[in-house]
Amino acid sequence: MTARVLVVDDVPANVKLLEARLSAEYFDVVTAMNGTEALAICDKAECDIVLLDVMMPDMDGFEVCRRIKANKKTHHIPVVMVTALDSPSDRVKGLSAGADDFLTKPVSDVALIARVRSLSRLKLMTDELRMRALTSREIGIQDPDHQALAEAGQFGRVLIIDDRRSTAERLQTMLSSKQKAEIETNPSEAVFHAAEGNFELLIVSLALENYDALRLCSQLRSLERTRNVPVLAICDSEDNARMIRGLEIGVNDYLMRPVDANELHARARTQIRKKRYADRLRDNVQQSIEMAITDGLTGLYNRRYMESHLGSLLEQAGARGKPLTIMVLDIDFFKSINDTYGHDAGDDVLREFAVRIRKSIRGIDLACRLGGEEFVIVMPETDMAVATIVAERLRRRIASEAFNITQGAKAIDVTISIGIATLDTADDTPSTILKRADQALYRAKRDGRNRVVADAA
Ligand code: GH3
Ligand code: MG
Ligand code: MG
Repeated sequence: MTARVLVVDDVPANVKLLEARLSAEYFDVVTAMNGTEALAICDKAECDIVLLDVMMPDMDGFEVCRRIKANKKTHHIPVVMVTALDSPSDRVKGLSAGADDFLTKPVSDVALIARVRSLSRLKLMTDELRMRALTSREIGIQDPDHQALAEAGQFGRVLIIDDRRSTAERLQTMLSSKQKAEIETNPSEAVFHAAEGNFELLIVSLALENYDALRLCSQLRSLERTRNVPVLAICDSEDNARMIRGLEIGVNDYLMRPVDANELHARARTQIRKKRYADRLRDNVQQSIEMAITDGLTGLYNRRYMESHLGSLLEQAGARGKPLTIMVLDIDFFKSINDTYGHDAGDDVLREFAVRIRKSIRGIDLACRLGGEEFVIVMPETDMAVATIVAERLRRRIASEAFNITQGAKAIDVTISIGIATLDTADDTPSTILKRADQALYRAKRDGRNRVVADAA
């Protein structure tokens, strides 16, 4: 997918120039002549990255950037300031407004394309996560965009990788008021250190003496455990080519020596904020996946998940000629527990029951709450005889130890009935096997409850 770049400049010739260069690299380009137009385009989500002129009449680039970054709908769009101003204090001013990077006029082609590629690649990746996380918000999970605006990017765990200790210590001291930085001076240990330490930012010197720093960056990018940790490279100003190569292999941002403390702070903060945002998006997606397949009260799988997964398990067992047995469990006289001790006490019993089920089954067994006080356990590679022993053990484990309710103030006796059915013919489906287990359960209830009955078929 190609990224769409918004070019904002009040001078038409500048717009034309950038547009031509970007189009030549197959980027989609949209343009705006002032801040108001630019904000409207961002607001409609019509661009993936913004190249923003600083000096414009009415609203200058800093203000446009500040507004993009303060808006929940647009804060995640990367902004590159294009400016003739290039003192550290100008850069810090832009970074404080939330800018992701700077390009100095006249803009060099290579730097332009490297920057736009690297930032838009990250943007397209987070977009996918963001879209899913926004859907999760509709089902009641925390809004990550809302939290992102409040995130200060401070007190992050940072690892500084530099084989010259004195240089590393200087960076560490600069960072110390805002971040928690550790130092690694042995480049061949760095990847392990980075993978073990749960860091939020890796600062890598591109001028390592006896080690190829770009190779290190590329290892950090390919390793599962460091892939999502941003890398900030420190390079010498004459080392432009390596810096650009770094961006290509996934370095997120860079700083030129001599390092300005404020600029270091600003860039570190930006990277840590982005990382925390992406982590939140991933958590949200994970959480919504879990919510969709689990039961909120007990944490066991829900009916929908069980039915679809049981389908695959049946097919697999059938194809391999392996047995598969399921049991349906139902708490006896559960209604009267609710009626006597209240609905909350009933919930306590359901939760504790789920805990005891978990303790009684193997990892490959699938436990789920069908609804109400009815549960199912699917046991692959298990025949009726073994399942009956498991069921009987579970029945005893329930009946022999009272259930605590009302925060342990009371303990009550609970019993369960269990019906068992086993995979029978090749055309067994989730509903036919569940039906047979249900019929067995019905007989267990009819014959006096607190018992296990196996389907006769
Ligand atoms: P039996 O021995 O025949 O199974 O009788 P029972 O009372 O257990 O069965 P019945 O199906 O009559 O009642 C089940 C009760 O479970 C009725 C319903 O209000 C209650 N129930 C369903 N879901 C929940 C829940 O999530 N929490 C609580 N506390 N009760 C629930
Ligand atoms: Mg019941
Ligand atoms: Mg019932």
